[in-house]
Amino acid sequence: MASNVIDGKALGAELENSLKIRVSNIKKVHRPPHLVVIIVGDDPASKVYVRNKERACKRIGIDSTRVDLPSTCSPEDLENLIGEFNEDPGVDGILVQSPLPTGFDEIGITELIDPRKDVDGFHPINLGRIVTGRLGGLLPCTPSAVMKILESTGVEMKGKRALVVGRSRIVGMPTALLMAQKGIDATVTVCHSKSEDLEGLCKSSDIIVAAAGKAGMIHHQWVPIGSIIIDVGINRVEEDGRSRLVGDVEGAASTRASWITPVPGGVGPMTIAMLMSNTVTAAESIFNRSEDS
Ligand code: NDP
Repeated sequence: MASNVIDGKALGAELENSLKIRVSNIKKVHRPPHLVVIIVGDDPASKVYVRNKERACKRIGIDSTRVDLPSTCSPEDLENLIGEFNEDPGVDGILVQSPLPTGFDEIGITELIDPRKDVDGFHPINLGRIVTGRLGGLLPCTPSAVMKILESTGVEMKGKRALVVGRSRIVGMPTALLMAQKGIDATVTVCHSKSEDLEGLCKSSDIIVAAAGKAGMIHHQWVPIGSIIIDVGINRVEEDGRSRLVGDVEGAASTRASWITPVPGGVGPMTIAMLMSNTVTAAESIFNRSEDS
């Protein structure tokens, strides 16, 4: 069986087109949405991610400001900057690019961002809303990208056995909560590095979301025929003197699954589109609040 390969770039472009309309509506009565991205240090991968986010802003008509802080800056420097952008009525979204250098408390930094400007969706208020089933606000970008991708297959998730490999605060756990929510109704298992029998868990799943960050750890023989595979993992591997990106699922899984996301070109571009969507949502709600007052 050959899979339907889900084109995350095309799905992202579709979402971007709808965002362009929302942005042009905002611009008729207000300034353009404005995203601030703060990057600390010189991590080359972070620089690539930030550049991709800046390019997406440009395509959609969102203003973006990038602030580069040296890795020698203190946590207080970053905290003060966040405080300034929180107060700035000209800023709708604030994103601090991960990872931060050693010595920075990443979760603590996230908690300092005004939840209404937290376009990554990592603030405890925004993550907590998922538990309460209030999903209209700023959701974490990768989990909501996974949900959009699943929706695009047209396959009903109700009653399906879904396995999420990984339980991180920003990917695995919120994705599991979104799949288990009322109305989606998947039966979700979350596994992690201490879980036993990953092979058995995979073999008894209808949907596998792989988010462990381990190249090819899901063997293709573990993938049930006709299942849906969402590969969130991004791993850089060296092969024949060349460096390339691969996911957490072996490539040959595409001969067994009914739907599969490629790496690169699957979850990644949709994640950026969801970030753009959150930025537009944040701008709309800030504009609506200023209209009301
Ligand atoms: P983390 O390192 O924070 O979490 C990894 C999770 O995987 C942990 O819960 C860990 O378990 C679990 N894990 C590790 N090894 C195993 C194993 N052998 N079996 C089962 N579970 C295991 O990573 P993130 O959640 O931040 O990211 C996961 C992957 O997704 C990475 O490759 C990352 O690059 C990628 N990513 C991709 C994005 C995209 O846009 N496509 C966006 C964000 C991330 P434990 O809790 O026990 O340590």
